[in-house]
Amino acid sequence: MDAIKSYLSWWVIPHQFEPEDLRYRQVQLLQAVLAFLQVYFVFFVLLNSLVLLLFDMALVDLVAAVLVTAVQRYTKSTLNIRLAGQLTVGLIISFLLVYLHVAEGRNYSYYWLTIVPSLSFFLLGGRQAIYINLLFFSYVIGFLLWRAPEWSEHSFNLASLFNITLATTFLVMTIRHHERTRAAAQIILEDKNKQLTLLATTDRLTELYNRSHLDHMLGHLVSQAKRQQQPLAVIMIDADLFKLINDEFGHLVGDQALIELAKLLRNNVREADILGRWGGEEFLIICPQTNSKEVAELAERIRVNVGNHSFTNLQLNLTLSLGTAVLTPELAAASGKSTSALAVELIQHADNALYKAKHGGRNCVVSSSY
Ligand code: GH3
Ligand code: MG
Ligand code: MG
Repeated sequence: MDAIKSYLSWWVIPHQFEPEDLRYRQVQLLQAVLAFLQVYFVFFVLLNSLVLLLFDMALVDLVAAVLVTAVQRYTKSTLNIRLAGQLTVGLIISFLLVYLHVAEGRNYSYYWLTIVPSLSFFLLGGRQAIYINLLFFSYVIGFLLWRAPEWSEHSFNLASLFNITLATTFLVMTIRHHERTRAAAQIILEDKNKQLTLLATTDRLTELYNRSHLDHMLGHLVSQAKRQQQPLAVIMIDADLFKLINDEFGHLVGDQALIELAKLLRNNVREADILGRWGGEEFLIICPQTNSKEVAELAERIRVNVGNHSFTNLQLNLTLSLGTAVLTPELAAASGKSTSALAVELIQHADNALYKAKHGGRNCVVSSSY
């Protein structure tokens, strides 16, 4: 058991490649291929020298085992995966060429030639692999055309079965490795896409939607409201006298207050509402299928809940001014304006209402009636 463990750790190639790096999977394949070849050749050294007494074959196998071990050692010490891949493919092609010349069609040994494409494409990449395969198989076909007519016919025997079974196992394993690599790459790509989308649509401080995503969603929801002839409301929110908070408690406390405010807002909006940071200490809520009465109630509830909340590290209550505006189906139908013009107009009306709330003494809701 310990011997197997120490053998395993001997051929494991330590590396720090990330799973998304192609070399991560190339190392895995190199490890498996080199270990397989070592066991294979050592087995034949023993078989040929101790059982079959074919000493010249045993010597060839010994040379092969030493070469494979050298490539394995080289890979482990340098982590030069590119060169290690080239050396491994080179070795395998050399062994197969030797095989091609000595086997003379016996024991279905040429079935082993089928492992070259999958192995070379994975370890060398497209361009190099194409040239290698072209050269290799041109040579093989030329050689067979030249020599095969002179060979005698061979029956299917146990060694043929052995060759077919082993080479097929090898082939299936490399193809499975290709497939797993492709599947892993797909998952990694999807994950990265999700991360990118999140980054592109999220405000870093508050983790709410950012301005650009709000703009995008507003356009989408205005067009939907028009189509479905449903009202669409927005609430523009601005924290009152926030500059004072920064001045008095410092920017970091101000940042914390914005994060806390974002959480409060999130807890106060409904599932279908879209909440985001419009900029600075301003927030926007887009409320689909919401009329002026409902949006005024929602805005008032938010104002009261935030006003009553004691913010961490703030020795005063933070209040909000809110402006609401509603795009009714009648307005959308009557104006004949484009979706983007309607969206701009809706925001302008909410902004004007917010302006009035500020001038009306702050900490209040003003509804635009347009
Ligand atoms: P008003 O009631 O009229 O809105 O007063 P105000 O002080 O909130 O408005 P003003 O526009 O004068 O100042 C906004 C302040 O918000 C100033 C700016 O430093 C602060 N602010 C904007 N973004 C951030 C931020 O990300 N972090 C912190 N800490 N402060 C911010
Ligand atoms: Mg402001
Ligand atoms: Mg403000």
